Amino acid sequence: MALTPLQESARRRTFAIISHPDAGKTTLTENLLLTGGAIRLAGQVAARGERRRTTSDWMKIEQDRGISVASSVMTFEYENLVFNLLDTPGHEDFSEDTYRTLTAADAAVMVLDAAKGIEPQTLKLFEVCRLRDIPIVTFINKMDREAVDPFELLDEIQDKLALDCAPLYWPQGSGERFRGMADLMTGEFLKFKKRTANEAQEIGGAERTAMDEDAVSAFMDSDEFAEISENAELAKEMCVPFDHQSFLEGHLTPVVFGTALRHFGVRELLDTLTAYAPPPRAQKARVKGNEAVIDIENKEVSGFIFKVQANMDPNHRDRIAFLKMVSGQFKRGMKLKTTTGKQLNVSSPVMFMAQDREIADDAFAGDVIGVPNHGALRVGDSMSESGNIMFGGIPNFAPEILRRARCLDPMKSKHLRKALEGLAEEGVTQLFTPAIGADMIVGAVGALQIDVMAERVSAENKLEVVFEQALYNVARWITAEDPAVLDAFLEKNRMNVGTDIDGAPVFLGKNSWDVSYVADKNPDIKFSATKERL
Ligand code: GDP
Repeated sequence: MALTPLQESARRRTFAIISHPDAGKTTLTENLLLTGGAIRLAGQVAARGERRRTTSDWMKIEQDRGISVASSVMTFEYENLVFNLLDTPGHEDFSEDTYRTLTAADAAVMVLDAAKGIEPQTLKLFEVCRLRDIPIVTFINKMDREAVDPFELLDEIQDKLALDCAPLYWPQGSGERFRGMADLMTGEFLKFKKRTANEAQEIGGAERTAMDEDAVSAFMDSDEFAEISENAELAKEMCVPFDHQSFLEGHLTPVVFGTALRHFGVRELLDTLTAYAPPPRAQKARVKGNEAVIDIENKEVSGFIFKVQANMDPNHRDRIAFLKMVSGQFKRGMKLKTTTGKQLNVSSPVMFMAQDREIADDAFAGDVIGVPNHGALRVGDSMSESGNIMFGGIPNFAPEILRRARCLDPMKSKHLRKALEGLAEEGVTQLFTPAIGADMIVGAVGALQIDVMAERVSAENKLEVVFEQALYNVARWITAEDPAVLDAFLEKNRMNVGTDIDGAPVFLGKNSWDVSYVADKNPDIKFSATKERL
């Protein structure tokens, strides 16, 4: 029997993976897709003939637009749930894209390298999850290599992230002496065996045996058995027990150990998500100016745009906006409106399957659809059938790098401003205009964003531009309860203030010391490193 729209929405699980480069995100992603059956291995030809048409439809769109969005969202079905795995860019460099993608996630998997623990980018990404209290499942990867003692690893998570750890499994050994892990819930032991991808997919989870010396003697000696028996007990005594509510509120993380490369622990991770990850979350919104909360029970189609991707082909100006659906049943061809009255006929939205990219006929809360447009849609825009729902919570993050953009040909400055505004609307970089003078200050969270911007300005706009050291290095959005106080501050600090692309006031400081000094002197002004549009 067909499911109702509410039942369809309720079985969506939308999540992202956060990790430091090299921890194994890509390997884990592949293995999750493999376990979820979204990737078929060579030799296993799936009966997906009926999907051919839609696939080629989509291929045409991709070719027409030259946009490769295939990997932005990966959808697979597992245990009657529909998982949407949101891909976050994997560069060293940190970009706003990554932050924003997390605002569309209802849960996250934090991957740690067992030899390294919490690394700088894990921490940064975690902080973004914490802003929204996104529930996090921890996967401690690379147990097939020499690892830090698991008790130490959990202590580190607890200390650095202030997050309670509830291990669901406990590993025995690591590297050459990695034997597998005890299931702390059932008391069984999951035996580690190097397997090929094929075996992992066919056989499924790890082989389980009873936790007694006879049963495990084939693959561990009695010392090892004594050790795991003791550690499993100790882990249960020392760590907090798993608490679903506390997990959903973002205070506690269940921990699974494994090795993505050797296909061990991945099914257990997916089973953990299946058991505990939440359905699409409710979102705060304003409806005709009134505060409201929109959740999957709402019938009206609504969602927000968390990412805009421009065409790689400079001859095509169109973009794809990624809309995370918050409520309703979307049907292909529906008209959706933004709160500013722009109406888009969404005739060819795009859904994403790992292998079969298809044009969506239907989508539900939790799903992501790609909306082709010609630049009308921006990150943070809300769309709905009525055009009355406006979601908050897609933040801008204060840039960590500021540069002054200057055209080598001063006659072309206007062109440059237009190009930079376009990129800011797309969310590639930010643009600030100081109150005095005609400088264009661009900002980015990571250096790579600046490179991408420089390349696109030169390739798409044929402008020769230099990005120089700016007078300022720190930008903070400023607000005050009393508009008169804000005006007075802006007037008094004309040398150090400006506006962002939306006209919101910003303070531009030489360094963070400068900012704290001014902030101390002006307690009625709020200086923020993030700006939410609501
Ligand atoms: P990402 O940068 O987080 O996407 O990391 P990758 O998935 O690209 O992995 C980085 C490196 O670690 C690659 O050489 C992987 O083969 C390796 N790797 C990933 N998972 C494991 C694992 O479980 N064990 C071992 N030994 N290597 C792994």
